[in-house]
Amino acid sequence: MTVPAMAFVLVFAGLLGLVIGSFLNVVVYRVPAGIPLTRESRCPGCDAPIRPWHNVPVFSWVALRGRCARCGEPISSRYPLVELATGVAFVGIGGWILGATGASSGVAPASAWLPTTLELLAFLYLAAISIALTLIDLDTHRLPNGIVLPSYIVALVLLGAASLIASDLAALIRAGVGMAVLYLFYGALRLIRPGGMGGGDVKLAGVLGIYLGWLGWASLVVGAFAAFLLGGLFGVALLLSRRASRRTAIPFGPWMLAGAWVGILAGPALGAWYLGMLHG
Ligand SMILES: [Zn+2]
Repeated sequence: MTVPAMAFVLVFAGLLGLVIGSFLNVVVYRVPAGIPLTRESRCPGCDAPIRPWHNVPVFSWVALRGRCARCGEPISSRYPLVELATGVAFVGIGGWILGATGASSGVAPASAWLPTTLELLAFLYLAAISIALTLIDLDTHRLPNGIVLPSYIVALVLLGAASLIASDLAALIRAGVGMAVLYLFYGALRLIRPGGMGGGDVKLAGVLGIYLGWLGWASLVVGAFAAFLLGGLFGVALLLSRRASRRTAIPFGPWMLAGAWVGILAGPALGAWYLGMLHG
């Protein structure tokens, strides 16, 4: 891909991220409450329908100074922050995937750009559900089936097609193994200590296993381990600061997702570093 084409993709990814972020705000609020996603948005203060020009990601919130144009009801700063975070995440993922492919001159054959495009879509999707599921789990201590279960199909179709077009059957097999291993591992944890892991955690583990296994064994091991390391450190910090007791239920979904992203972005590097330490 040429440098101007790469810049175009990154700008497009950023704008797409802002729009998807706006949609994620709706998902985070409505899915746990069982409200249809298609219903028109209304101000919670005065029930006025939200006009399209008051619904432009980030810009509308800034222009309205965080208040409803009709009744002055404050609009949470979480909305523009989620939009901004999604935009930044999409640019970062675009840069990560295109950077790995490398800049080149000339037009690549479809066998080269098609798997990259499918991979990009798969990881943008994962970023979107990571943001939505993190906020929903923090809000409600749930990981809704309506988001987690379709993610198996999205991940397997996009990453599976990318593997088949690139004739990389090994990646597809690793994805299947990753899915089974993480699902069974979290399922076993749930059986050993009921009340620790939720059923949503077990189902999410399978989705993350597909992505991590598809990337490689190092990503799978690092991603799975990082979730427990990050979640454990956070739990110890909460206990030490006396913000929580041993009985406080801490949602684990956000740590599973954060750990998976450590595995995705730094799995091979961290794996090599750890093995290097073992061998002195
Ligand atoms: Zn209002």
